[in-house]
Amino acid sequence: MSIRPKDIIYLDSNGTTSVDPAVVSEMMPYLTDFYGNPSSAYGFGSQLKEAIDTARERIAALIGCDPSEIIFTSCGTESNNAVLQSALVTDPDRQHIITSTVEHSAIIKHGETLAKRGIEVTWLPVDFTGRLDLDDLKKAIRPDTALVSLMWANNETGVLFPIEEAAEIAREKGVLFHTDAVQAVGKIPINLRNTKVNFLSLSGHKLHCPKGIGVLYVNRRTRFNSYLIGGGQENGKRAGTENVPYIVGLGKAAELARETMDYENTEVKKLRDHFENTLLDAVDGIEVNGDRELRLPNTSNVAIHGVESEALLILLDQKGICCSGGSACTTGSLHPSHVLIGMGFSAERARGSVRFSFSRFNTQDEIDRALKIIIEAIQRLRRLSPKQVQVVAR
Ligand code: PLP
Repeated sequence: MSIRPKDIIYLDSNGTTSVDPAVVSEMMPYLTDFYGNPSSAYGFGSQLKEAIDTARERIAALIGCDPSEIIFTSCGTESNNAVLQSALVTDPDRQHIITSTVEHSAIIKHGETLAKRGIEVTWLPVDFTGRLDLDDLKKAIRPDTALVSLMWANNETGVLFPIEEAAEIAREKGVLFHTDAVQAVGKIPINLRNTKVNFLSLSGHKLHCPKGIGVLYVNRRTRFNSYLIGGGQENGKRAGTENVPYIVGLGKAAELARETMDYENTEVKKLRDHFENTLLDAVDGIEVNGDRELRLPNTSNVAIHGVESEALLILLDQKGICCSGGSACTTGSLHPSHVLIGMGFSAERARGSVRFSFSRFNTQDEIDRALKIIIEAIQRLRRLSPKQVQVVAR
């Protein structure tokens, strides 16, 4: 590997996070000396159950639920897939799913695949600030609705959906409710005990834990049909020998997230606001994508008029700045972000949008260095571009 962390300014924490050294230290013994299988009858293996239980307790404390409601999975995608699959087999007469147009691909692509197999899917729209209208949800629920699945926080814009209210609506109509909270957990306070949420997905690598570990919360009174069938691990709800080191790491990451929650919502937010306000003041023709109040404290998604984000990302990459663009490359062509398109923006605006996402590991000094480089890069591209700076119509 040639590009070392010391050479970069990492502003892509919604993509993945740096691993907290305290998480690595906690994991280390379980990658080396304590390699037993927790299902073993002998003490060398079975003692690992305690480590798993501690992790379960720490995660339950972070999201305000009972440890018995935590199921370890391999990632957020698995948790999301498991819920959709489970809900459709719970009641064969309920084969309709409601979700939104701006979900992560782990829901969107799965929903599209289910639709091809004959499952009806209702895609709720959002407005140009990325917000959901709960009246649309009320109208969409039908007697045959199996599940409502809505993300807590959007990964691209950070915009928050009113999950507690949406879950109340689903419960009143007797419909199961799932939230993809992969981006929300650890960034905003969550207390599931006060909600009507049946299922919640989270992912370790958004929480300063390594990739390859996730959680599915299943409310203890909610029926859940296993997605992975085999051994009796996770109380028979998710087969497969437990990934002990990563489970331990996620437990530690959850504990740290709880301890740093205030910092995230004050200091990280200040860094994000400083970054965004400086950028808006320094450069004309920049607009924030998404509601500026109702969003995660760490996310800034901006439309930079007259600039292609792909070109900007290349220039920033050369200077060691990591951030992500409003379009994705699929089979050789650039597709504008479905989230920004879903908010009613043009493909041109989406292609000129960039997401910067921060974490507790960012410093004021690196934000200021990044700002200087970003502002220069935008000005350079605008000088090169035949396009004039213009406010691109939605
Ligand atoms: N849901 C959201 C909102 C995400 O942002 C992501 C990852 O970016 C996922 C699901 C998928 O999580 P994982 O990468 O753990 O599969």
